[in-house]
Amino acid sequence: MASEQRFLGELLSRRGLVPADRLEALYATQRERGADLLDLVVHTNVADEIAVAKVLAEEAGVPLVERIDPAEISTALATRVPITFTKAHKVLVLREDDAAVHVVCADPFDTQALDDLRVIFGKPVEATVCGRDRIEDAINRVYEKQAGEEQLEGDEGQTAEDEVASDILDSDEEAPVIRWVNSLFLQAMKERASDIHIEPEEKEVIVRYRIDGELYVARRAPRPFMNSIVSRIKIESSLNIAEKRLPQDGRITKKIAGKGFDIRVSTIPTSRGYERIVMRLLNKSSVLLDLPDLGFSPREYALMDGLIRRPDGIILVTGPTGSGKTTTLYACINRINQPNLNILTAEDPVEYEIQGIHQVHVQPKIGLTFASALRAFLRQDPDIVMVGEIRDHETLEIAINASLTGHLVLSTIHTNDAAGAITRTIDMGAEPFLLRSSVIGILAQRLVRVLCPHCKYGYPAEPFELEELGLTAERMKVRAARRENPNSRYFPRNVAGGDLFEEFDVTRRPTFYKAKGCNNCTNTGFTGRRGIYELLLVDDAVGPLILKKADSQAIKRTAQDMGMDTLRDDGARKVLAGLTTVEEVLAATQEDVEVEGAPGMPASAGMRSATTTGAE
Ligand SMILES: [Zn+2]
Repeated sequence: MASEQRFLGELLSRRGLVPADRLEALYATQRERGADLLDLVVHTNVADEIAVAKVLAEEAGVPLVERIDPAEISTALATRVPITFTKAHKVLVLREDDAAVHVVCADPFDTQALDDLRVIFGKPVEATVCGRDRIEDAINRVYEKQAGEEQLEGDEGQTAEDEVASDILDSDEEAPVIRWVNSLFLQAMKERASDIHIEPEEKEVIVRYRIDGELYVARRAPRPFMNSIVSRIKIESSLNIAEKRLPQDGRITKKIAGKGFDIRVSTIPTSRGYERIVMRLLNKSSVLLDLPDLGFSPREYALMDGLIRRPDGIILVTGPTGSGKTTTLYACINRINQPNLNILTAEDPVEYEIQGIHQVHVQPKIGLTFASALRAFLRQDPDIVMVGEIRDHETLEIAINASLTGHLVLSTIHTNDAAGAITRTIDMGAEPFLLRSSVIGILAQRLVRVLCPHCKYGYPAEPFELEELGLTAERMKVRAARRENPNSRYFPRNVAGGDLFEEFDVTRRPTFYKAKGCNNCTNTGFTGRRGIYELLLVDDAVGPLILKKADSQAIKRTAQDMGMDTLRDDGARKVLAGLTTVEEVLAATQEDVEVEGAPGMPASAGMRSATTTGAE
């Protein structure tokens, strides 16, 4: 492999596309990231993809094509090759005749791929060369077209061979609308969308998907079809089709490609005379993560694992809506789920069904609140209880009582950082001395987007970035000193190494990463999200502060002195690991700064303590 990459590098250099003095650096990056050299050259803008294709075509003596028309490609033929293969080798089958199978590829020297195709089709391969991104784009279009032709499971309808999803709307029969709606779900699932928005605009219907927290336009349809689309979705979710003036809520249970989905549907009337629909997709079968998959540092993982194995106490997970709190709670429960334990949960709604535990969907409308469910749980001989959220005095009081009578209680609370959860519970009316003896740990979290492995590239970290993330010599010294504190519970003895902070060398400038955007990540530069965490232990240093109702800043500073890493510290770790960008971490931890400067605290003091987070 390495020799092929060198061969290509030297070829491009000889033809003047890559300066000879950049070759070694490119090889090094290529080895380090396991990337493809041609990808690197194109995606770091060393050379244009068509210029590269032209040189390769000339050297290999095969024709160059500058564009590929997916409409001219037979889906059935092209998709005989697995998509993983076509993407890995940047090769797409165009057509077949008696003499040969005609393909377009990015690298005509990839003889292994061409040879495999010869075997698959049983005839000689005629290759043409095109730019790699153009091939990738064509691959996506061709395989998407195939996906659009696939049926949803359980749908008995028939599909015409070459029908593209959006063309279905050219007919006004009902069946095409059903297929169109079904293909929306299928596409949403494939793209890992959490929500589908269907919105009437001036001239057309826009469908947007929320993927990794951001909305993207996924599809458009002519506006006259809005009515049939709305009706179809209302039928599926058992809503009143005739009611167009009031908001409605419903749900659909569906199997999509073998996975069970619970889809919550909400409609609202808009001033344009059409209803707007938002559907949230909850995947009931998979997506249940285990604690090790959440992306904790080894140290925080050990601490967290220790907390959830305690026989009693309250563990709170905190953060804004959409910060992944529920996923963390599920992962904790999944970790401790044993046949010898009785685990009960009260949730709104039940997002994932977990084998072996008993889940209750709270319904405030009929009086089944978090508080009443929790009270009933205590008569059900539980070991561990989980309450979706603590947002009132009553629930908090029962939770504290449950903990003091020997149960482990897991819940979430809506605050911006871990220390804030303590002051929030005191504001809710909890007795400080009862809090002190029941709450054992508070985990604050945020989600940051994970860089696309296909198009991310490294650069030397800027001094201001190191400063912002607290990766300076000074602060590293402070951190090292904290590790020596014999009273700290933040450094479990059974965890050795693996902490990027401890291994961070301040004398060297680290490599940070960004991404350019490519077909693998719908040009966003990101695929998926990962948590960043701040775990506060209620120890002998923080305990007395709770008793005297200290403000959250004082609690946070004390916890940091004892060794707590803040959200931004953990974000810095994820940047060092090449998982995400500096911008993502700063944006996710920005709220921290603003809130700290807010109530009852001079703005400047809040700002200062936030920007020097980790310093003292
Ligand atoms: Zn990408």
